[in-house]
Amino acid sequence: MRDPDRLALDRTLDAGAGEAVQGAAGAGEAVQGAAGAGEAVQGAAGAGEAVQGAAGADVRWMRAALEAAIAAGERGEIPVGAAVVLGDRLLACSGNASIRLNDPTAHAEVVALRAAAAAVHNYRLPGAILYATVEPCAMCMGAALHARVSRLVFGCEDPKGGAAGSVLDLADHRRLNHRVTVVRGILEVESALLLRQFFAARRRMSRTG
Ligand SMILES: [Zn+2]
Repeated sequence: MRDPDRLALDRTLDAGAGEAVQGAAGAGEAVQGAAGAGEAVQGAAGAGEAVQGAAGADVRWMRAALEAAIAAGERGEIPVGAAVVLGDRLLACSGNASIRLNDPTAHAEVVALRAAAAAVHNYRLPGAILYATVEPCAMCMGAALHARVSRLVFGCEDPKGGAAGSVLDLADHRRLNHRVTVVRGILEVESALLLRQFFAARRRMSRTG
């Protein structure tokens, strides 16, 4: 039988050992504290990332639209691409198809909106985001309004025919019953460069041809 003093000592030692372990944890915490400070910085970055998260998603989907634009250009269409996204789901992605389909309405945005509506079996696309490499024309903005898309994200402006602020602003017209939030300039340089290269090549061909 152990004497009470020894028992008390054992308890203290046990507790001490526990503390030692906790001390290690404490040291761990100190390290974590440093990491915590890092996290605080990262937290600030995290806030940035949250903003960047939305922008990051915009870049990601715009890249899909841009790839469709490149593919359209390779087919001889004006290289414009569009994507329709609902939540984190890509409903449709298309490039211009007017020449291939002999259809003046087959702009990338219209083709993508049609496919997206078919995908969800609904002619309205509330909450959806329309991505377009180039500022949509009046027809495409009309289609976006009919579809009730919530947001339009586009790459470069079209000063000659853009209907989301350049020539017209159908996204925010006080006489229209639906407004579309517009974000511009996502992959702007790439989108514009694609168009410039396409038209430059076409001019070269018409000169040499
Ligand atoms: Zn259009």
